[in-house]
Parts: sequence; structure tokens; C-alpha cells
Amino acid sequence: MRACVLVEPGRIETRDDVDMPVAGPDDVVVQVKSALTCGTDLKAYRRGHHLMPPPTLFGHEFSGVIVDKGNRVERFSVGQPVMSVHTAPCGECEYCRRSLQNLCPHLTRTMALGAYAEYLRVPAPVVDANMYPKPDDLDYREAAMLEPLSCVVYGISQAPVGSADSAVVIGAGAIGLLHVMVLKEMGVKQVIVSGRHDYRLETAEKVGADLVIDSGSEHATEAVLEATGGHGSPLVFECTGLPAVWEEAVTMVSRGGCVVLFGGCPGGTTVTYDTARLHYDQITLKGVFHFTPDAVRSAYHLLADGRLDVTPLITGDRTLEEVPETFRNFLGNNTMKYAIIP
Ligand SMILES: [Zn+2]
Ligand SMILES: [Zn+2]
Repeated sequence: MRACVLVEPGRIETRDDVDMPVAGPDDVVVQVKSALTCGTDLKAYRRGHHLMPPPTLFGHEFSGVIVDKGNRVERFSVGQPVMSVHTAPCGECEYCRRSLQNLCPHLTRTMALGAYAEYLRVPAPVVDANMYPKPDDLDYREAAMLEPLSCVVYGISQAPVGSADSAVVIGAGAIGLLHVMVLKEMGVKQVIVSGRHDYRLETAEKVGADLVIDSGSEHATEAVLEATGGHGSPLVFECTGLPAVWEEAVTMVSRGGCVVLFGGCPGGTTVTYDTARLHYDQITLKGVFHFTPDAVRSAYHLLADGRLDVTPLITGDRTLEEVPETFRNFLGNNTMKYAIIP
């Protein structure tokens, strides 16, 4: 089959002679109809990623049609359109028992990696826990948004959204804007986005942001304070993964508020906080990572029930042959995600 191989950081090849995946007794093989580019893939391309040692197939956001299945798979059938994430927890370890399946050490043991390909094997644990039938009226491109949306739904589930009438999202990439959509869908009255680049800020408005701050030309904290009567916002979601922005996030949160640290920073970096701010203003800093099966189910319903329109986050379509060039020229300023259509 045809598939993209990350040969080494900085080098992707589209090959025609990659072995077809084979389904074990509890697995399925999916013909990929759409795979989305993702910041994690871009990171792996630029500087390598410990979970994707090259040479490796890659791409993990996908939807497609089942073309083969193991003889013990009963919930799905050949020919069925499906949407899925790429990992599943073991269900038995200490973290799984504490409902922290997102921290299960076995998550990556059974990963469906290699969505930039004609076919992809989805291993049994993922089929069992985190794969869903795709509704006919949901486009394959949108269905492939299940994985990033699951991460966002999980992060938001860790914040006290119920009582908040305002929230700040820092970062206007696809992840930041998925936060905007989910927070608006949950009824948060005022969602403020701080980010850069006209295309992204315009898209933020399109997907429902009530106030957009151009952090390239405005002082983001001052703008947030002004928009919130000088108090700051009870919820701040950091979606850039830059240590300086992790620190800045605390200057935007109101007393008693919560900062959700979604964006992962480069390994080995550190941040510094004013202890008085954290203590006397009772600020919660909440790290979040990945997703649980509950979050995947919620994300699935947001997409399947048509409660979110994620199409503004898909900049355009590319073929497998165009993947190397797409990554090489991916600047991010004028793009969100590309749909790779094999
Ligand atoms: Zn992703
Ligand atoms: Zn586990």
C-alpha cells in the first residue's frame, strides 16, 4: 500500500511498497478516508518524538471504512464507516482504577499510528474502548477531529466551568479554537481568545469567540483585565506550550480562578510563579494530558450530534504524495489543519 514514512526528523517519504496491515483476531483494518495533520506530528517531524522513533509510519487523527476485521470482533462490520482515536487504556492498572485512564502507562503500547496511509490497523483495545460508528451525515474530515477534540473535552472537564461566566483561551491554533467551540457550546457567556496572525484570529471570530485579542500588537493581560471589569477571568486555558505563556496565564486569571495548562512545553523547561498570587488569590494550576474513554464518548457526541461545526479548522485537502511538501512548508500562521485524503 501507499503510506508516508517519517524516515528521520526533517524527512518524510511517500512510499508505494509498504506492507498492508493485517488484523489480529480482535483488531480491525480501516481504509483511511481522511487523516488530519496535528501539532504533535509537526513536532515529530521537526525535532523527533520519543513515541515515534524513526523510521516510522505516522499520523494519528483519522476516520475511514472497515475493510477487514478479526473473527472475534462483533461490534463492527466490514464496510462500516468509523471514527476513532489512536490509543486506549488497559483498564486494569492503578491509574485506570483511579479513573485516570489518561495516565495509563500502557496507553502507547497499542497505538494506531500510521494514518497517513491507505490502510491502518486499529488494535483490539482501541476497537473496544474508543472506536465509534461514523454517522452518514458527518464528513470524514470532521469525523477525524475526534482525537484532538477528545483531548480538549478532557482538559475542559478538569476545570470548574459550571460557575464561570467568562473564560480566556490563549492560543488561536486548532486546539485553542476547539476550546472556544466547546466552551461556547457549554454556555460560557464570554469567551476571550488571545493569539496571533490575522487568519487565526479571524477564524477565532468565526467559531464563536466573543473577544479576540491580537497578542502581537496588544498587551494581552491588560486587554483581558479591561474586558472583565479588572478582575481577570475565572478560567484560563493555556494552549501554546510556551513556558513564558504558562507564566503569563496566571496574570489573566481572577482570584479563586483556575488555569488549565493544556499546551505541553519542551522537555526540561521550567516556569516561575509569584507565590503570593497563588496563595492569597487562591489560584489553581491544573495540568492536563491526553484523554479518557469518557472524554472520547463526549467528543463523539459533540461531533455526531452536529453540536460543533469544526470545518473552519480544516484549511484544505492534500494527497499522500503532498504530505512531505505540506510538512516542509507548514508555517502555521495561515493554516490550521490539512485533511490528508489518501
Ligand atoms: Zn493530534
Ligand atoms: Zn491502565
